[in-house]
Amino acid sequence: MLELSTPVKYVKGVGPRIADVLAGKGIYTVGDLLYYLPFRYEDRLNPRGISELRPGEMATIVAEVRNSGLFRTRKMPIFQLTVGQGRSRLRCLFFNATYLQDKFVPGQMIALYGKVEQDERTRELQVVQPQFEVLGDPGDSENGAEKKAAESLEIGRIVPIYETTGRLTPRWFRRAIHTALENLNSDLPDPIPAAVRSRMGLVSPHTALWNVHWPEAGESLEQLQSFRTPAHIRMIFDELFFVELGLELKRRQQKSQTGIAFRLDDGARAAIKKILPFHPTPAQKRVLKEIAADMGKPYPMRRLLQGDVGSGKTIVAFEAAIIAIQNGYQVALMAPTEILAQQHFFSARNILEKAGYRVVLLTGSLEADRKRETRRHIAQGNAQLIIGTHALLEEKVEFENLGLVIVDEQHRFGVMQRLKLMRKSADAVAEPEMAKATAGAAAASPRRQAEPSPAVAEPDVLVMTATPIPRTLALTLYGDLDVSVLDELPPGRTPIVTRCVSDDRSPEVWEFVRKQVAAGNQAYVVYPVIAENEESELKAAVKMYRELSGSIFKELKVGLLHGRLDPDLKDQVMRMFQKGELQILVATTVIEVGVDVPNATVMVIEHAERFGLAQLHQLRGRIGRGAAKSYCILMTGGKVSEEGQRRLDAMVRTNDGFKIAELDLELRGPGEFFGTRQAGLPDFRVANIIRDVQLLEAAKREAAFVVSGPNAEISAEEISRALVHMRARWQHTYGLVEVG
Ligand code: ADP
Ligand code: MG
Repeated sequence: MLELSTPVKYVKGVGPRIADVLAGKGIYTVGDLLYYLPFRYEDRLNPRGISELRPGEMATIVAEVRNSGLFRTRKMPIFQLTVGQGRSRLRCLFFNATYLQDKFVPGQMIALYGKVEQDERTRELQVVQPQFEVLGDPGDSENGAEKKAAESLEIGRIVPIYETTGRLTPRWFRRAIHTALENLNSDLPDPIPAAVRSRMGLVSPHTALWNVHWPEAGESLEQLQSFRTPAHIRMIFDELFFVELGLELKRRQQKSQTGIAFRLDDGARAAIKKILPFHPTPAQKRVLKEIAADMGKPYPMRRLLQGDVGSGKTIVAFEAAIIAIQNGYQVALMAPTEILAQQHFFSARNILEKAGYRVVLLTGSLEADRKRETRRHIAQGNAQLIIGTHALLEEKVEFENLGLVIVDEQHRFGVMQRLKLMRKSADAVAEPEMAKATAGAAAASPRRQAEPSPAVAEPDVLVMTATPIPRTLALTLYGDLDVSVLDELPPGRTPIVTRCVSDDRSPEVWEFVRKQVAAGNQAYVVYPVIAENEESELKAAVKMYRELSGSIFKELKVGLLHGRLDPDLKDQVMRMFQKGELQILVATTVIEVGVDVPNATVMVIEHAERFGLAQLHQLRGRIGRGAAKSYCILMTGGKVSEEGQRRLDAMVRTNDGFKIAELDLELRGPGEFFGTRQAGLPDFRVANIIRDVQLLEAAKREAAFVVSGPNAEISAEEISRALVHMRARWQHTYGLVEVG
């Protein structure tokens, strides 16, 4: 008898060689094989009479072989099979099918499934490349053939269609999976607590597995195709439930940890008021309130701040920083690129240093001496706001007393990576904190106001992202995070005008750029690659820089920025552009993240068809930051795919990051959208967080119910069984090791 954990090679018909092929698909166990679901179903339920067939329909036909033979055309050999029912005949064609030559004997009963077509010349009906199965030999009684038809996996039922894997055909999977199911332990343990099962109306695991592959006659084809049969729902819920259970436990665990209860008193309020260079928007006010309230709790904050590009996240981050600093703690602000770290550093200095806060920049490219000195300042508590790249995490910087970590990750990271990042920021600081605690060297800072906590307190973490995710989805997906949304742009912005043109019209575009620059504005020109040899037919930043600065814009000051420049040079170029000493900046997507130069009003993107939607939106977010009207010109070079065109159209149509994100999600699917697999999205086999968002919410609700503890409805034993299952299934995906 097979269990779900039995290695797949023990399924009859698999064997070691096929097991290797399956392993390549991630199928190692019987359970894995059974989770290889059909991607669609065919209704082969009702065999049709030949005389009632209509061109264009998919049909199942049970008939008798009349004759067959191979004939050769100039292009290829074609195998022709004629079958009949009484006086009706039907021709079937198989291209390149010499292997069928001796397969059929007149008088045999066979079943066929395929598309009925009409021959253009003779107007006769025929079936090209049908699936077929021999049901009985000439001598068999008719009953025998009928019986076989009833038992067939191919005909006379709703048939599951699997994706072909190597040489393993859909037909192979049908047989293997059917065999596995027949030998499967019919008494599979159910890891979902009974109370949850009954509330959700879930079928048993065994029933789900059978029916998802071999639907009962009468099952709705529409529900099958849309993964909405009870069997599908059970399997989808399984996956979502245990992921949510893990997140829920994490959330509870976090709330039980010791954090810092920052106080937002009048001093901090006054300090914040003093530094703000403008009136915060109502959205900024609301979000800060949420953050401040969270920071005030005695457990560590784990909050995600979502806001479209340009919504003004930075200032919110600075406000949160002030609260922490006013309470006597240090703040680390991490950016995904050096350029962005630099930029945060400059604005932090402008805004915060005036008020007497000490800000330092720590990035990988600093000279060793400077680095050492900066580190000393950090360790001694002289620096209050430490800005750097994510290298801050790796470099094991010692803080005197870190209270708040802000991660400005924009849209760069996947969901689970974000969690890792948080865990890591906690780990990275926990170590020196621990060392300090044992050394007893913690000299209390004179400005410290919050209650010193008895245990080692974890710093608060605020992650900022520009990926706008539909709110319900974010809430369920991030599970263990609290979410704040900045859903309003600062006032005085004129919407960006976006146009899409072919690069035949580049002279006009350059003329337009020249006019804008003459009016005192600045422009970006973005290319998909740095140097030509990378992808030959694409225009590259370096070459186009030469052309733009050397001839097209000879009279203007043009700069070049890309990821491979020396950090000092990068820094210098960026600063010159920021100060207006450069009028045009030729760049790659290094500028995509967070760069803020309000005087830049034009963004030209060459080969715009090559960029992803999120990327285009981010790039466009670099302009429209001041009061002057801004223009985004998407230039296409070469062929634009249909999907590419949809991306460009969306950009022209809307500036709304949420709408763009939704379309992006739709075009790319959740895996790509949230980052690749290594970004750590749970690798669901059945569930699809877009399609199944309602089940996701139900799973979250039920998980919360289970986590809230043993009660009359759920026994401790059930809970522990659920936990064991959760670990087994999800531990490797996102390390739930420390949970529970
Ligand atoms: P993002 O959310 O993309 O990080 P930024 O924080 O860089 O956005 O802010 C974009 C621009 O808007 C900056 O120039 C910033 O100074 C400005 N800004 C932010 N908040 C306001 C506000 N309340 N009023 C006016 N301008 C603001
Ligand atoms: Mg930003």
